[in-house]
Amino acid sequence: MFKAIVIEKDEAGYRADSREIDEAQLPEGDVTVDVDYSTLNYKDGLAITGKGPVVRKFPMVPGIDFAGTVRESRNPDYKTGDQVILNGWGVGETHWGGLAQVTRVKGEWLVPLPEAFTPRRAMSIGTAGYTAMLCVIALERHGVSPDKGEIIVTGAAGGVGSTAVALLSRLGYTVVAVSGRSEEADYLRGLGAAEVLDRAAFSQAGKPLARERWAGAVDVVGSHTLANLCAAMKYRGVVTACGLAQGMDLPASVAPFILRGVSLIGIDSVMCPRPERLEAWGRLVRDLDPAKLDAITDEIGLTDVVATAERLMAGQVRGRMVVDVNR
Ligand code: NDP
Repeated sequence: MFKAIVIEKDEAGYRADSREIDEAQLPEGDVTVDVDYSTLNYKDGLAITGKGPVVRKFPMVPGIDFAGTVRESRNPDYKTGDQVILNGWGVGETHWGGLAQVTRVKGEWLVPLPEAFTPRRAMSIGTAGYTAMLCVIALERHGVSPDKGEIIVTGAAGGVGSTAVALLSRLGYTVVAVSGRSEEADYLRGLGAAEVLDRAAFSQAGKPLARERWAGAVDVVGSHTLANLCAAMKYRGVVTACGLAQGMDLPASVAPFILRGVSLIGIDSVMCPRPERLEAWGRLVRDLDPAKLDAITDEIGLTDVVATAERLMAGQVRGRMVVDVNR
């Protein structure tokens, strides 16, 4: 038997709780992993609370990421004792996920835990931090270097946002953080933000073009906020869009794209090809200040997960929430 969070949906409604499961029920896969740590990402919050249609099969063990140790493998790339990380691939959505003491997955979904990281450290980065790194790499690939000007990061006190602020400031960019939580301004300055702006200034419908200010953007919010960022990009500015915390809609105009050559780059961590995952994890080893990561991270046990998911959805969780699945 092993402990896990289980989500069910039936005549009795949509619900999640912590319980024991028989290992005979583990899903198909060629690698069985003893999970050390998982995390709570925004998508896990949607899955556990039922606030978004994330879970496609029931019963489901949520958890879109985990770090752990291989217990058994039929995959030639992994052997017993190897330490591994998983992000995405529909795990925690269509395939049982990481909020459990044991999981079984396809070996091709795993990446080796970088030697510099413990499983806990890897999960304090988690899918949010790995996605922030994908955004930073996309800005670089599209020519946004620190000398080009300010980078704006929305949802800055959340997981993707906090990690993006820490990464960009370490890389020498001038970072402007956008947050709805004025009480987190010192936290964001501590991570390296040069300025902190109130998200209310971005959340309503704005003009098709605004004063040119930003060289680059990392947006986790979508909706009017993303439209307003596009409108205020400098000539040839680059916006990376990875999230929908405000909404899935994009009520924007083409003006920034056709008059200022602005680029809007979509970032997806779930199906991201393996070479880019390995690059992102390698860059996280190099470019993320461990002290900043500690400042971003809080830890809970498996039994705290359901209540903490409610707090995450209410925007009350700061930075990253690591889950020790063995307590
Ligand atoms: P968090 O919950 O940790 O952070 C989200 C932040 O967004 C909040 O902390 C808050 O920041 C801000 N926010 C919340 N509600 C609103 C609102 N109504 N309007 C404006 N801002 C709001 O989530 P994550 O960092 O884990 O994920 C952020 C987003 O990125 C999510 O939408 C998630 O689905 C997406 N994502 C996408 C991935 C991909 O592969 N494309 C991978 C990972 C995440 P503050 O309090 O500072 O204002």
